[in-house]
Amino acid sequence: MHYAALASGSKGNCHALSEDGLTLLIDAGISLLQIRRRMEILGLDSNSVRALALTHEHSDHIGAVGVILRNTDWAILATAATRTAVERIQGIDIPPSRWIEVEAGRSCSWEGWHLRPFALPHDAEDPVAYRIEAGGQAAAVVTDLGHPTALVADHLQDLDLLVLEANHDVDMLREGSYPPQLKARILSRVGHLSNAAMAELLGRALSPRLKQVVLAHLSESNNDPALARFAAEEILRGTSVALHVAHQREPLVLPPAVA
Ligand SMILES: [Zn+2]
Ligand SMILES: [Zn+2]
Repeated sequence: MHYAALASGSKGNCHALSEDGLTLLIDAGISLLQIRRRMEILGLDSNSVRALALTHEHSDHIGAVGVILRNTDWAILATAATRTAVERIQGIDIPPSRWIEVEAGRSCSWEGWHLRPFALPHDAEDPVAYRIEAGGQAAAVVTDLGHPTALVADHLQDLDLLVLEANHDVDMLREGSYPPQLKARILSRVGHLSNAAMAELLGRALSPRLKQVVLAHLSESNNDPALARFAAEEILRGTSVALHVAHQREPLVLPPAVA
């Protein structure tokens, strides 16, 4: 499996997973033009994209869905509630011919890949993260959750690659310039994962199989990549796990066959 973070952060998210000439995107919070451009920068073929899996309806995850429906033939994977919310927010119809319904807790297959969506504690209609198995490897992309749950930790066992939210440093957020309501939302149990909570969840995901960890959805205002890294490194000390940080403005690609 080949992984790339095309963009990650509160201004737009898009992850690409490729195997055997097929690419699945997770979320499309940057423009279709940017998706294609960033894939090209990384040497990935944007014609290999066949499907887009949505996690939830917040704008930093779905901004390009309307354009994608009109300009590509990609299938859209989403839960029924997320599909309805995206249609309402974007003023679009996702036709049944383009939609593959997924459901938290129910495994599904896509082009020989094995996908398992699972529920996240986040303030959206029906937010999910995805555990994905293809080519004998397992990955999970887990962002936009307010706190670590046992259910989430259960889905992070025996992964080769974990992409995990490290949204904020609690002190930076508390002392920062965000309005009080927004701070309270981010800090809530259905908000975003702090560096400390990320470290706790990462500890529960450690296994001899884990090779790559990508910290994702970092806030540009309320986090410092060095702080997020430091929190993860404390957990990973003594292991051979490689640690990466995904960015908002630049794509990140991991070497093939190791992810
Ligand atoms: Zn988000
Ligand atoms: Zn969100």
